[in-house]
Amino acid sequence: MITIEHLSKTYRKGAWALLDVSLTFDKGMTGLLGPNGAGKSTLMRILAALLAPTSGQVTINGISLGRSEEIRRMVGYLPQHFHIYPQMTGRDYLDYVGVMKGITDKAARRKEISRLLEMVNLQEKADKKVRTYSGGMKQRIGIAQALLGSPDVLIVDEPTAGLDPQERVRFRNLLTRFSMNRTVLLSTHIVADIESNCRKVAVMNQGCLLMTGDLAELQACGEGYVWEAVLNQVQFAALDPALVVSTRTVPEGIICRMTGETAPIYGAVQVEPTLEDGYLALLRRERDE
Ligand code: ADP
Repeated sequence: MITIEHLSKTYRKGAWALLDVSLTFDKGMTGLLGPNGAGKSTLMRILAALLAPTSGQVTINGISLGRSEEIRRMVGYLPQHFHIYPQMTGRDYLDYVGVMKGITDKAARRKEISRLLEMVNLQEKADKKVRTYSGGMKQRIGIAQALLGSPDVLIVDEPTAGLDPQERVRFRNLLTRFSMNRTVLLSTHIVADIESNCRKVAVMNQGCLLMTGDLAELQACGEGYVWEAVLNQVQFAALDPALVVSTRTVPEGIICRMTGETAPIYGAVQVEPTLEDGYLALLRRERDE
């Protein structure tokens, strides 16, 4: 379990990258959702004991961040941009990380690496050079390195960016398996990444926590805020594009899905929000305030 209390971070001369963030993460997978610049990576780097906060308290399974060696052993981290030497094989790379993590017994290290390669379904590619791997394979090796040493907590920063839709689905399912008996924190700016796999969500924007709760609570943020109307070309052209969420052309005209506190156009009817609508409504309300 991760407990975060009044956490703030400012980089030198910068604005607040995190501002008074308090929340807890339990076992299972939580999605950390927010647009670029929201502070997600900053929060994750602090939790991985790679970056010191400006103020606030964090404990992971009761241990405070100050005991950084212990924290690093408890936390597996896959950064947003991580580099693997392209000439190395996947297995050699994992062996190198295993040594860096202090798994000194060679036989034990080999055994764990084989187990992890099987878990991420890379046994067949393990002895090929990393430069021959697809984006999804690299991310799976990334997860395997984060899981070396069996950490209780797994932190993955925007892992699906750059993956094709099939790889994205496979990668999300892999994370779901790992979240059965540990705390997994997945950051993303894509709602679909959390939709089917996360039980909980925390939404951030501009360094602040906007909400935390289950997915139904985020979806409910869009209630009374989503509208649909069938428009002709002239009506559609006159509509403020910022209000349009999606469109679909049908023989009767353009079915237009819009957001707004009131009907954006005469004749629009309120419809059930999706999770994405809830997220957009939350961000737009915050912006309008
Ligand atoms: P996210 O991961 O949600 O995109 P980040 O944590 O990367 O957000 O960034 C939050 C804010 O902190 C942004 O305004 C960003 O420009 C700033 N920031 C991030 N890293 C640094 C850094 N090393 N030095 C200065 N400012 C930074």
